[in-house]
Amino acid sequence: MATVPFDKLGGKLWYNGELVDWDAGRLHILSHGLHYASCVFEGERAYGGQIFKHQEHTDRLFKSAEILGMDIPYSNKELYDAGYDSLNVQGFKDAYVRAFAWRGSEMMAISAQQTTTHVAVVSWDMGSYFDPEARMAGIKLQWAKYKRPSPECAPVHAKAAGLYMICTVSKHEAEAAGYNDALMVDWRGYVAECTGANIFFVKDGALHTPIPDCFLDGITRQTVIELAKDRGIEVVERHIMPEEVADMQEVFIVGTAAEVTPINQIGDVHYQVGEVTRDLLTLYHNHVRGE
Ligand code: PMP
Repeated sequence: MATVPFDKLGGKLWYNGELVDWDAGRLHILSHGLHYASCVFEGERAYGGQIFKHQEHTDRLFKSAEILGMDIPYSNKELYDAGYDSLNVQGFKDAYVRAFAWRGSEMMAISAQQTTTHVAVVSWDMGSYFDPEARMAGIKLQWAKYKRPSPECAPVHAKAAGLYMICTVSKHEAEAAGYNDALMVDWRGYVAECTGANIFFVKDGALHTPIPDCFLDGITRQTVIELAKDRGIEVVERHIMPEEVADMQEVFIVGTAAEVTPINQIGDVHYQVGEVTRDLLTLYHNHVRGE
């Protein structure tokens, strides 16, 4: 956990088209994005000065904004460049890059037709999402009490702030019970994903992963599927029932922040960190660094 709060990290950040001092990265408390979750965001990682899949992430930010009916007042190229500006101005080679857009304070009600959309891109030093030692030994997942909503109940394919409310509650409960993260099922009861990462299972040498029809089809997920297929590993995307997890031989989660993180426990079912997981962890580690 960071000892310095994020508002005190210091340096510069990209805010509405300009590089400004860290302290200038402020918004008024009466901002629509804060009260009504009209905010979309991206999470990216830079390795050796290159932001991994930066174009895909930039495109996804625009897509998320479009789903929420928000107009981003910058071009795709401007935000692509803003990612590198925010990284380079901090002098970072390896960092987390957060691009986000939110509705401003012109209106403070459900309707926000007259609000302007603000955009910022901020880079910071992140390191491993989970404690590095615990991560290699595998982390523990608790079943979450909340379910991923149906596409008829929420804009589930946007990376939108409002969708994370149930994730934070679930993750807090998991942490309070001694787990590292929560595993959510979807509204039908199928295994879905963790609070900020997608999940893979290994069974008889093949990868099994839920179909992302009501949650984010993560860019890391897509990358790991490609890496596995290139390796000759069979990948099965299908609906997975919670009862099935007891029959899986290995489990790992994937995401920009989590990268490839082995799982050693789901609820009361225990796993070893296996060969397929270790192999994909190394492949991903090398791939993002262009090795
Ligand atoms: N699901 C959720 C809910 C997430 O927040 C993330 C992280 N963005 C992911 C999956 C993984 O997505 P990605 O691999 O694109 O980072």
